[in-house]
Amino acid sequence: MDKNTYDAIVVGTGVSGGWAAKELTEKGLKTLVLDRGPMVKHGDYPTAMKAPWELPYADQPTQEDIRRWPKHTRPSFYGITQSTKHWFVDDLDNPYEETKPFDWFRGYHVGGRSLMWGRQSYRLSDLDLEANGKEGVGVDWPIRYADLAPWYDYVEHFIGVSGSVEHLAQLPDGDFLPPMELNCVEKEFAGRLSDKFSRKLIIGRTANLSGPLKHDKSPQRATCQYRNLCMRGCPFGAYFSSNSSTLPSAERTGNMTIVPNSIVYEMIYDNAKGKATGVRVLDAETGKQTEYFAKVIFLCASTFGTTHILLNSTSSRFPNGFGNDSGELGHNVMDHLFGIGVSASVEGHEDRYYSGRRPNGFYIPRYRNVGSDKRSYLRGFGYQGSASRQNWSRLVDEPLLGDDLKRAAEEPGPWRLGMSGFGEMLPSHSNYVTLDHNHKDKYGLPVLNFNVAHGDNENRMKKDILDDAMEMMTAAGYRDVRSYITPANVGAAIHEMGTARMGRDPKTSVLNGWNQMHACNNVFITDGSFMASSACQNPSLTYMAMTARAAKYAVDELKRGNI
Ligand SMILES: Cc1cc2nc3c(=O)[nH]c(=O)nc-3n(C[C@H](O)[C@H](O)[C@H](O)COP(=O)(O)OP(=O)(O)OC[C@H]3O[C@@H](n4cnc5c(N)ncnc54)[C@H](O)[C@@H]3O)c2cc1C
Ligand code: SF4
Repeated sequence: MDKNTYDAIVVGTGVSGGWAAKELTEKGLKTLVLDRGPMVKHGDYPTAMKAPWELPYADQPTQEDIRRWPKHTRPSFYGITQSTKHWFVDDLDNPYEETKPFDWFRGYHVGGRSLMWGRQSYRLSDLDLEANGKEGVGVDWPIRYADLAPWYDYVEHFIGVSGSVEHLAQLPDGDFLPPMELNCVEKEFAGRLSDKFSRKLIIGRTANLSGPLKHDKSPQRATCQYRNLCMRGCPFGAYFSSNSSTLPSAERTGNMTIVPNSIVYEMIYDNAKGKATGVRVLDAETGKQTEYFAKVIFLCASTFGTTHILLNSTSSRFPNGFGNDSGELGHNVMDHLFGIGVSASVEGHEDRYYSGRRPNGFYIPRYRNVGSDKRSYLRGFGYQGSASRQNWSRLVDEPLLGDDLKRAAEEPGPWRLGMSGFGEMLPSHSNYVTLDHNHKDKYGLPVLNFNVAHGDNENRMKKDILDDAMEMMTAAGYRDVRSYITPANVGAAIHEMGTARMGRDPKTSVLNGWNQMHACNNVFITDGSFMASSACQNPSLTYMAMTARAAKYAVDELKRGNI
């Protein structure tokens, strides 16, 4: 094999890139895996075992942190603490422009945001995949649930998703590990919601190992210790991350070459062949430029990472960005409605507690515009929340001293229950990102400029998210029901997607139903860019399932000589 030439290139090692690396190498392809960030080997999690007193500044951001992360320390962002800030990109070195404000959470290191993710894992259903077509919004998804279901099974089995079987058409069941347990207050709330509203409250479906995996292909993974420190990285490998799961599998094949600190900034296109032949890379530490070549390229650099590479790859064939014959590249940005919620005090369980720190909450699946329910807006939302007892910090404002303060601090505080909505955002051509050629980053690359805002449908849904939550908590008989609206911009749900959507028609979409570029059939995009609608479920499980599906198709097509 020539130097710098491989069967396949995968760009990005996060949730989707890890899966592409595993699938392509297991199918025998010599695969180059590139990531713009530094190497993080499984177990290389510097704060994972630190006790609270070992973390400086009470685990809060310092003034220097606020200077380095001016965007990331805005009220709707989180993660800039002493225990997790090393996973989030420095705003000064990685700037972006906001014609309209956008909260862009990034992790540039091997593993990407699979290290920090919240692990909530839900399937889409035909209600979601048929909606665009039925309602004339965006483009119809070129796939249906039956196309995806076996791949959800495949991915859930491998990564381990804990959850309960509920028989809901709008939230299909999966191949689950045992469900975690709702606590006594959550069970009571579930009963009251069922009695008064016929709505379900279920334990969250989470990619944490509530029991042993049902296979022996990940010997490095152990069951969850219920510490709820997952965002620091888990030395037990007890939640799914690329680092603990897919990348070790890829490595074991002997077919993976992984090169960190490799910023892919441009696609290489051969006009005569009508194919992409490789990628151009900048070394993040030395600035050295290198070209790599392969028969097939998987772009998994996250929605905006991939979009940046494509917009930056112009040529006589693609003057408006690579693969952008439709003019839709960079458009139809979606995220979930986020930051709207309610909390309340719950009485009557003062003699009850829970054991451990469950890294999971409850989920109220979508019920709006389901069955006979009809609203003035399209689509719907789900809620995520939990109930817990307040800890000693509730005493900060109490007029207590000495013995009295110590004794009060030994007692668990009252129960509070809280939940917030995740709502569907519609695709719209008027929500887009562009490259700002007047503003370049330290590598000389133009930065992204965000032009994304919620529309009328989203604003109507937001009102329902708040009103319904207030109504449910009040009807459940809880006291001191308080609403909150975090000043969150689009992006704050960290579910950005849609900028290279799939569809049947090359005139209106970038990818076909196999995540394959209409205009260049040896390029596949399997990060959130491909999403034709957002549904309201957390999306990463769908990215994984679609990546595994696309990898199988790409390898079959290679063997058939079609790409
Ligand atoms: C705090 C938090 C909580 C979340 N909770 C959930 C949840 O509960 N459920 C859920 O479904 N999702 C959740 N998410 C979202 C989830 O993390 C993302 O959907 C998922 O990681 C996206 O996968 P990806 O492969 O597209 O991108 P990423 O995981 O972000 O990986 C992209 C990789 O590409 C690399 N890269 C970028 N640009 C380039 C380039 N030019 N060249 C080379 N490499 C590049 C990056 O360094 C990175 O490693 C959460 C995210 C965060 C941060
Ligand atoms: S709660 Fe479980 S998955 Fe999370 S860090 Fe602890 S052991 Fe790991």
